Amino acid sequence: MTAPGDASDLFARLDGVYDRLQALNAAHQGSGFGCRMSGNCCKVGLELHIMETERIVRGLEEQFAKDPGRRERVVARLVEACHDANWKEDTSQGDLMCALFDKGCTVYGFRPFVCRMYGVIIEPDDVCPRRKMASGKPLFYIGKDVDALVREYYRVIDAFGRRYPRKDWTMYMPAAALTYLLPPAEVRKVRRTSPPKLWKRSRGYRTQFAPSHRRSPERAAPWPTLPLVPLNLRPQG
Ligand code: SF4
Repeated sequence: MTAPGDASDLFARLDGVYDRLQALNAAHQGSGFGCRMSGNCCKVGLELHIMETERIVRGLEEQFAKDPGRRERVVARLVEACHDANWKEDTSQGDLMCALFDKGCTVYGFRPFVCRMYGVIIEPDDVCPRRKMASGKPLFYIGKDVDALVREYYRVIDAFGRRYPRKDWTMYMPAAALTYLLPPAEVRKVRRTSPPKLWKRSRGYRTQFAPSHRRSPERAAPWPTLPLVPLNLRPQG
């Protein structure tokens, strides 16, 4: 895998999706039914499309430029995550918290889509302690704007996959991130001692959005009116 190349137009579109969902996160937070920062949903070994892992790596490189000592600490956490032998593909959970969690999300400004939509446009799991509505159900947003936002997310990921077919994979994020952050010989060393299941590559991007969103519309609230950053929803890929 090569170092992050120039895909600035696609990363700008991805950041546009992130910004739009972040505005919705802020509205959700102000609703009284928002995230309580328990970190429970961060007990996960994320599987991400390479584009989103690359977005994380780009953000990390900016952090490392300001705090060079941080590189070693982050790499050590990622290497540790690559030895989480109890990680299971069906639940994306093992023994460890997300390698990017340290008393909170350390990549909050460039965290991936799945972390932004949890509890906001999809129904959260029982592990999430956020306040419930009178019906006993959590609040999350639905509507055409939510559908359009998710469609734009997939368009961006698809456009990236078409432009860089050799990076059109979904992979365990810690393993994929190390291929950017370590020299190839070091990656091979980690891989030799790491369970093969953590290096598996698959096509497509799994998300629980559609079933969760469609299953319980009566539990959800309409997309609120917000002064949002404009999002260009026309296909550009
Ligand atoms: S990227 Fe951040 S928000 Fe997402 S699981 Fe990891 S620590 Fe949690």
